[in-house]
Amino acid sequence: MIIQLEPKLNDSTKTDVLQAIKKIGYKPSPVNTQFGNYVVCIGKKDFDIRAIGSLPGVRDIHYVSDDYQLVSRKWKVERTAIDLGDGVKIGNGAFQIMAGPCSIESEAQVESIVQHLKRCGVRVMRGGVFKPRSSPYSFRGMGLDGLKMFSAVCRANGIKLITEVMELAQIEPMYDYIDVYQVGARNSQNFNLLDELGKVDKPVMIKRGISGTIEELLYSAEYVFSAGNERLMLCERGIRTYERASRNTFDINAIPILRDKTHLPVIVDPSHAIGIREFVAPVALAGVAAGADGIIIEIHETPEEAASDGAQTLNYEESALLFKQIRAILDVQQA
Ligand code: PEP
Ligand code: MN
Repeated sequence: MIIQLEPKLNDSTKTDVLQAIKKIGYKPSPVNTQFGNYVVCIGKKDFDIRAIGSLPGVRDIHYVSDDYQLVSRKWKVERTAIDLGDGVKIGNGAFQIMAGPCSIESEAQVESIVQHLKRCGVRVMRGGVFKPRSSPYSFRGMGLDGLKMFSAVCRANGIKLITEVMELAQIEPMYDYIDVYQVGARNSQNFNLLDELGKVDKPVMIKRGISGTIEELLYSAEYVFSAGNERLMLCERGIRTYERASRNTFDINAIPILRDKTHLPVIVDPSHAIGIREFVAPVALAGVAAGADGIIIEIHETPEEAASDGAQTLNYEESALLFKQIRAILDVQQA
């Protein structure tokens, strides 16, 4: 159960509400975000809703049958849109393409991709500077200095940026240089990281864990929301199954299911999902057709030379064609 409180209420009114919740046998957890004050109440007992609904300070009560609460669509029927500013929105009817290299490699690389994105009308660039790599001997990213350069080029060109945060200590130094924090598949259940990202007033995109279930992804989002950050997106990036013909198995089912279960925007990452360059476009289009609110995709001027994930990275020609095809699907969906 979610209780929405009035935006401004004094401590004693709040204490009275919490007491009343305890009295009906529910465990109250107060949640304050940038947008609202809530009390998430966990319990199963039947009670007279008027006992709570009539209390001063209570704006609304929502019964949510799901175990996760604030991210559930059962209480918030309108879909959440994430506003990155300057007209760049994701969700609730606004679709965004986010594209860029797996790893940021140099200023020339960023400059070149930014120009390509601008030519293609893409407003958000992706690129990792802290890279989670299976082998410690692989390229692990340009770090904070790389991010500062990446950010300066993007800002100078009106492009928003999303990049991965791998640990607590990176959150604060990254803050001034990013528009969206990406939580990677390997950190999808790093609950300490999720808690801390809940305290930050910048959007967060959480990727599904390597073998994560849809429910686990929703719980990860619940961590961030309940710690205070409502500006969240979820990303289907393929999961590990027994199939070895592709890098991961793209779970297309997850898109309509997530959109049914949560009001948060759902993004697809076809690059990591299939991991095979020539098949990225059909998987991307399938994800868009299935109802995704956005796509995040790896591109590079010369994928063969990319420092990481070149085998799943599209070149400029391939990506320009894909962006056109995506827009054609979006047009059909609107018709
Ligand atoms: C990435 O986006 O480059 C990445 C490492 O993705 P994932 O966390 O999905 O593996
Ligand atoms: Mn990658």
